[in-house]
Amino acid sequence: MSTPVPGPRHLAAETRSSWTNQELPFPDWRIPPVSWVSQGRTRGWMDIVGGPPRSVSATPRDVTKYQEPLRPLSATAHRRSDLADLTPTPITHLSETEAAMQEAVSRFANDVVLPRAREMDEAEQMDPALVEQLFEQGLMGIEIPEEYGGAGMNFTAAIVGIEELARADPSVSVLVDVHNTLVNTAVIRWGSADLKRRFLPRLATNTVGSFCLSEPASGSDAFALRTRATKVDGGAGYRLSGGKMWITNSIEADFFIVFANLDPSQAHRGITAFVVEKGTPGFSIAKKEKKLGIRASSTCVINLDDVEVPPENLLGEEGQGYKYAIGLLNEGRIGIAAQMTGLALGAWENAVKYVWNDRKQFGKLVGEFQGMQHQIAQSYTEIAAARALVYNAARKKEAGEDFVRDAAMAKLYASQVAGRVSGLAVEWMGGMGFVREGLAEKFWRDSKIGAIYEGTSNIQLNTIAKSLQKEYTV
Ligand SMILES: Cc1cc2nc3c(=O)[nH]c(=O)nc-3n(C[C@H](O)[C@H](O)[C@H](O)COP(=O)(O)OP(=O)(O)OC[C@H]3O[C@@H](n4cnc5c(N)ncnc54)[C@H](O)[C@@H]3O)c2cc1C
Repeated sequence: MSTPVPGPRHLAAETRSSWTNQELPFPDWRIPPVSWVSQGRTRGWMDIVGGPPRSVSATPRDVTKYQEPLRPLSATAHRRSDLADLTPTPITHLSETEAAMQEAVSRFANDVVLPRAREMDEAEQMDPALVEQLFEQGLMGIEIPEEYGGAGMNFTAAIVGIEELARADPSVSVLVDVHNTLVNTAVIRWGSADLKRRFLPRLATNTVGSFCLSEPASGSDAFALRTRATKVDGGAGYRLSGGKMWITNSIEADFFIVFANLDPSQAHRGITAFVVEKGTPGFSIAKKEKKLGIRASSTCVINLDDVEVPPENLLGEEGQGYKYAIGLLNEGRIGIAAQMTGLALGAWENAVKYVWNDRKQFGKLVGEFQGMQHQIAQSYTEIAAARALVYNAARKKEAGEDFVRDAAMAKLYASQVAGRVSGLAVEWMGGMGFVREGLAEKFWRDSKIGAIYEGTSNIQLNTIAKSLQKEYTV
């Protein structure tokens, strides 16, 4: 049984501002790319809180509707210079742009991703046509500025998109997550003008990216990495030697951010980030892993055998790679937390549709038994709590506040909720949850990775405890 999750909306009342509840004008999955939505908007959340100004380019005909309903807050904002005494809105409220993103991605996930999820899992392969559609939808350049062909949206829009994709397929979600929150962000933030000009338009439109930090001997202890970079004589660039492990997107990617140590005598302060393109001599994919979950997402071992990197492919500054990696993973964790929240909701919806509509025992729907209802209610509450942590961490990051503890808490908790809820969802569906016809067992398998990548649960706990201890030590 392949039960589609009810869509395209979920948690509608809680997540959408009262002034953004108009229906989308798009009749089917051929929705306009999210970049259209961003270009047609009037004010985004960042505009309201005083974030970087956005350029608004030509407004496509189909989305002119987004210009009409001005948010009350926006209307107020241009009359007042001091916003400090405005009552903050609930954390789950989205700006018009973000709500449109949520709606559009939800529809795409439900109509385009979901029908392929089971097949891609069985094949342990991402459908290349789907990757193309992700680019067409603008989902691969969510935060890339419009001048480079991206959607020019904010971080929360990316988080909302990652969450919606995970409701249908966490493998597709992590492809988009790694590409946007780690790879694109690294180039936007530390890329030279030349790197941005050469690669951002490609990353936004047709080139998948990978982030290569982990190695066989360095996972949680990431900065113990052994891949070496040496300078080529005469300033001709660098040579990389070593190997990477568990690299997401590596089958689909043509663009790799590789961390290597340029000066081991400086320990982690020698770590440097480089851009390597697939096809560079000495760069090869050694092995594709067979996995428990997120099986459509590629995870590979990469060999670097005297890979020559031209000087212009240095990302940022020599010896700063560890800082970049820490910064990226701190924010990337919010993406994984969003993936886990979306997964939990997808598993929950898939199961409640069955127990409240289809399956009867003892003469009534199994979802009417109180023992079931309490578990269902408890699970939904946990999903809502996880989502509040995720959105709060995202908002704090956008506001320029310290979000490191919040991101760690969001990832820790969301991955726990995903495991718990998707496991219960299998039980609620009985035998139908256990067989590989539907998606229940897949969601459960997929949930396990949330406690492992971008920092295990123990590493999140370490981060949380360290920050608390610092705060409470006199
Ligand atoms: C599917 C998948 C995709 C991945 N994608 C990428 C990617 O795209 N790029 C990339 O660079 N990496 C990627 N990784 C690697 C991932 O980030 C690491 O697997 C993760 O950081 C954990 O490292 P490890 O597997 O070596 O576990 P280990 O570090 O060996 O940990 C083993 C156990 O020891 C515990 N532990 C370790 N240190 C401590 C400590 N200080 N305190 C308490 N407990 C501790 C851990 O919590 C864990 O339970 C991916 C991994 C997987 C499985």
